[in-house]
Amino acid sequence: VLHIAQGGASGSIGWLTNPASQVSSHFFITKSGQIYQLVAITDTAWANGLRWAGQWLTPTGKPVKPRWPEIIRGKNPNGYTISIEHEGKSGESLTQAMVEAQNKLLIWIAQQLDWSTYAAGKNLIGHGDINPVDKPFCPGKAFDLGIIAIRASQGLAPTADRITEDASIIAPARATPEQMIARIVGKPHGEYALFDIDTIVRGYFGCAQPVGVDPLVCIAQMIHETGNLTSYWSQRPRRNPAGIGVTGAPGAGVSFDSWVDDAIPAHVGRLLAYALPVGAGTPAQKELITLAMGYRLLPDKCRGSAPTLRLLGSGPNKVDGCGWAGDGDGEGQSYGARIAAIMNQIRGL
Ligand SMILES: [Zn+2]
Repeated sequence: VLHIAQGGASGSIGWLTNPASQVSSHFFITKSGQIYQLVAITDTAWANGLRWAGQWLTPTGKPVKPRWPEIIRGKNPNGYTISIEHEGKSGESLTQAMVEAQNKLLIWIAQQLDWSTYAAGKNLIGHGDINPVDKPFCPGKAFDLGIIAIRASQGLAPTADRITEDASIIAPARATPEQMIARIVGKPHGEYALFDIDTIVRGYFGCAQPVGVDPLVCIAQMIHETGNLTSYWSQRPRRNPAGIGVTGAPGAGVSFDSWVDDAIPAHVGRLLAYALPVGAGTPAQKELITLAMGYRLLPDKCRGSAPTLRLLGSGPNKVDGCGWAGDGDGEGQSYGARIAAIMNQIRGL
């Protein structure tokens, strides 16, 4: 329920947090875009209450017919609504900072409640929809609930689509070759020209898709491991796509003669070996795993230990000594979360 405070921030917050006022609100948004939380969303704020005495009465005792169709007959709406107060006077236009803060807050609230969308008049209303007798001006005509609902719903949609570190390695392609090429070319990319990058990306699609591996997982991991094709080991004549055999010891690391014929199959096959236990998989998957093991063996105990991005990290991987890489190098993010973040970037999220 959106409200207008009919006053400035400090005076209103003082009033809303003063027990003697007998009014409160879950949130308060200032014109400068600051969000204050005054009451937990699991608790009741006294913001838009009505009384029931065989019919709805306003707090001042006047009969009222709420417009809100979701109101529960006989139950004070304070008990099942979340209130957001806004600094300012009814009819005053909202500042840009306030609009952005409100949108951010609405998205956060929806995430807490597992709401996937907002609908004006349903789960997004104004105080006047509950109490049109005493509060017809609250929050006022500067608040277009339809637009506010659409904007917040748009903000929620990508969240549902966002790839997390629990994404599986074996999955359909989650992005197009063009999206991947654009991401690599858009940042420093070592000695590789656009033509080479196009060949590499399409090489990954040609190798990964027939064995059920998401090419986006491979490319995002390649980008992470090679610093977007700028690392020493990724340059020709080494062409190492994902730190295979690179331990930090002098000279240690596998070099490949060709991206498409050697490096990419070794990378995709190694990911499959992490995703599938020994003996599992289609003939094509098993063949690619065997080929990849020819470049660098993955011990049997590690086979199938990482069907998801998260488990590629040596921390979350519960099999000792397995895991593609350490989790410590990611600025507080795990190895799998870093790959997921690159996947989301490529998808434009
Ligand atoms: Zn109000």
